[in-house]
Amino acid sequence: MRRIISVTWPSLVLTVLFSASSTAGAQGLNDYDYYKRVSPGKEKLILPAYRGVPAKTRVLMKRAITQSYKALGKRPIANTYALYWHTKKSNLRKVAKKWCAVAGRKGPHLKRCLTEGGGWDKGFKTPNIASAVFETATRKGLMESTQGNWNDSNKNFHAKTAAHEYFHVYQTMMQHYFEKEDRIGIPKKQTKDDMHLGPVWMVEGGADYFAYNVMGKHKWRDYEEWMEEILGEAKDEISRGKRKGIKVILKNYATDAQIDKMKAKGFYAHFQYDGGAWAMAYLRYLTGTNKGVFTNYYKDIAELERTWRKKGKINYGWRKSFQKNFRMTVDQFYTRFNRFMKWPTSRQMKILSRPLS
Ligand SMILES: [Zn+2]
Repeated sequence: MRRIISVTWPSLVLTVLFSASSTAGAQGLNDYDYYKRVSPGKEKLILPAYRGVPAKTRVLMKRAITQSYKALGKRPIANTYALYWHTKKSNLRKVAKKWCAVAGRKGPHLKRCLTEGGGWDKGFKTPNIASAVFETATRKGLMESTQGNWNDSNKNFHAKTAAHEYFHVYQTMMQHYFEKEDRIGIPKKQTKDDMHLGPVWMVEGGADYFAYNVMGKHKWRDYEEWMEEILGEAKDEISRGKRKGIKVILKNYATDAQIDKMKAKGFYAHFQYDGGAWAMAYLRYLTGTNKGVFTNYYKDIAELERTWRKKGKINYGWRKSFQKNFRMTVDQFYTRFNRFMKWPTSRQMKILSRPLS
């Protein structure tokens, strides 16, 4: 069972895939499968070359992912495959074979994967997709992207997408990493909802905020200029919402069900990215460090989730991690952030720190 969050961003689709076992059955809440991790610093980044992908695109993507990996220090724990292909020019059979192997598809699932694709990308033929996940079946990172991301991409937007997607791999692996035990633990019983990692605005805003930081640090694009631009987008969305009777606040961008409902009304919902990224910037400002939003929040989820599963509660890890690392509940944060969004732009811009500082 896979869940997908997808959001249209001008002409492309950014998604984070959530792997969730559908064979949970009679498993206990606190049953885990444990695995070794790749030795720290020995993780491989594999970028196969497929026809139709310009060499300079591959080089830029590789640089963006490598810089993202380095920004996260010793924490990345998996070999990661970044598959970039062209839906018309690449050998899709070759792409499919690699994709389905990395995703760990077997038996009838493999057959379906090879012909129909991951189940949502129409046989690997969607020209504007970018998504990434830590595959629990193989414990490998899987990133994918097609030509819509780099064709007509200005201001290195596709490098930003690569950093964003890499952060999804990182988030989805860290939620299963037990730091002290130095091993990966996957709960046997999983729910179909996507709250294991936290609200959508945290997942997408976290990935965007990280990507803007990496891009700014390496001078791909000016960090403050970009943050100001998306702050404008966020404020526009609040105004658009007011006219349509939609309350544009983080709390309403927590689940994909909420976001899908807005889209069904014809509302262009993007606040989980722009508002989400500013929520990260504001959390950094409140705590005085990026450690919470870049590492500690994710690092503590696995342990806290297991602790609370022992008490019979599922999907509590992220809530408790939020509370621990940001020293307030998520509801308290909602109130503070709503107030923050009413500040004048010049005052909001002053809370930013240097990228990746
Ligand atoms: Zn995303």
